Amino acid sequence: MSDLNNYPWIKKNFNNLNISSLPHSSLIEGNKGLGKAILVNEIAKTILCLESNNSPCNQCNSCELYKNETHPDFIKNNDETKILIDEIREIIDFSYLSSSISSSKVIFLHNCENMNRNSQNALLKTLEEPTDNTYILMTSSKKRALNPTIYSRCNKIKIDNLDQKQINEWVVAQGFNDFNYYDFPSFLNPLEIVQYIDEGDDKKFIKFSETLLQFSNKQISINKTTKYLIDLDMPLIDKINLLVDFYKNLLSSRISKMPYSGKFIKLNDLSFSTINLSNVINELNDLREMIYKVSSLNESHLFKYIIFKLNSIVKLQ
Ligand SMILES: [Zn+2]
Repeated sequence: MSDLNNYPWIKKNFNNLNISSLPHSSLIEGNKGLGKAILVNEIAKTILCLESNNSPCNQCNSCELYKNETHPDFIKNNDETKILIDEIREIIDFSYLSSSISSSKVIFLHNCENMNRNSQNALLKTLEEPTDNTYILMTSSKKRALNPTIYSRCNKIKIDNLDQKQINEWVVAQGFNDFNYYDFPSFLNPLEIVQYIDEGDDKKFIKFSETLLQFSNKQISINKTTKYLIDLDMPLIDKINLLVDFYKNLLSSRISKMPYSGKFIKLNDLSFSTINLSNVINELNDLREMIYKVSSLNESHLFKYIIFKLNSIVKLQ
């Protein structure tokens, strides 16, 4: 079980809640990798705890059962990628049972944006007529992905994104001393970054930003950069996302007049028209839409075009 002290932003969210007056249905929203499930576990443990109303005592029978994932008054969806009607029915049945140990029961629906329409409709009834001592805690990393009535029946708890400085400090505090924020796509959140590092998959991001850094500084040729992008073992859409992210970062650093530090300091010397660069970024965004629609795009032509274009825009001073 996660210690909340390791996740200061979750702890802040938790401390802002008054668990004893929590409505029966809550929806915890926030991007992937921010720790929504960690927050839900702390809320659930507190609701079920036999000794305390504000935070779990971590000592009572209930807290012990929760830690061992054998609490009889707690249920969570098994499949987080698609939540089908059978699972919702099981959860609804659970809501009619009386509690065994704690005074209340808790239902945890993780990634509830993955409920299909039938599941959402079935759940709606339970949300509209909640059984007395049952709390439903749902998480979602997508906005507006659910039936609007579900939103209107839930108390909403939002976990905000962390800024660059907070992410830096947190990842470094996890023992990754040579962490550099710009080596990672800015759409990744702290838990995702640590997961990539743990699984050894961070190298591809580091190599990607290094290559684009060298290309932007005219240290490697257009052909070599194009070949690198084509050969990169990654879906086309991810490559486009990373490209957009890299140049968006460059653009926003220039617009906000926040100069780069670390090994990205060399980007400070680049001269380019912000309008031209934002045009290429828009073009990349359009390409992304096209990739979703057209299955066979010539990747080689596509990257040659983009890289030539970027090369003509970004100049050394
Ligand atoms: Zn307890």
